[in-house]
Amino acid sequence: MANYRANIGVVITRLLVITTIVTTAVAVPALAGKGHGPGITPLSEEEVVELTYMREEEKLARDVYLEMNRLWYDTNIFSNIATSEQRHMDTMKKMLDKYGLYDPALGAEEGEFENDLLQDKYYELISDGSASYIAGLLVGGFIEELDMIDIQEAIDVTEHLDLINAYLHLLEGSKNHLRAFVGALESQGYTYVPVLISQEYFDAIMMGL
Ligand code: ZN
Ligand code: ZN
Repeated sequence: MANYRANIGVVITRLLVITTIVTTAVAVPALAGKGHGPGITPLSEEEVVELTYMREEEKLARDVYLEMNRLWYDTNIFSNIATSEQRHMDTMKKMLDKYGLYDPALGAEEGEFENDLLQDKYYELISDGSASYIAGLLVGGFIEELDMIDIQEAIDVTEHLDLINAYLHLLEGSKNHLRAFVGALESQGYTYVPVLISQEYFDAIMMGL
């Protein structure tokens, strides 16, 4: 597992460095990007893969929560968070459009994914979360942890400030969602134990960091 505090430190350092480069680039028009509109530098293959994946992963979160909301509608936790995931999907869509990229989620039905891994994950999570309200909340916690790890990976492969900002926005959302699921579990007398992220990172998130 990556050391997240170190990673965030790298991102911030990178942000500072990039800000300097961008400021310089603006003063020298010859450095502006070509072929994708003024000032837009095309994404690398790796950046495209990560961005496309994140668009569908946010859809995975939204679609699982929509189904959980049908099953466990006594509280509005799943519907509220599904609405937030829709906004995360929209943020990723904005980035795909900005760089003129193909959108795998365009016109896709709820529960339908182009990425086989995410398709399998969807069925697995729906099945797990159908067992009980607690199981649904645990699935929620798992999805948010998975999101955080994949968002961090997407951040790690890009130096595009707009993408980094978009991902950091998603990351903050995921932390909020994780806190909400953990809180809901606590009110059911259940203590959440992180599955994918470290206990140290989890504790920091629960402290509001
Ligand atoms: Zn999200
Ligand atoms: Zn989320």
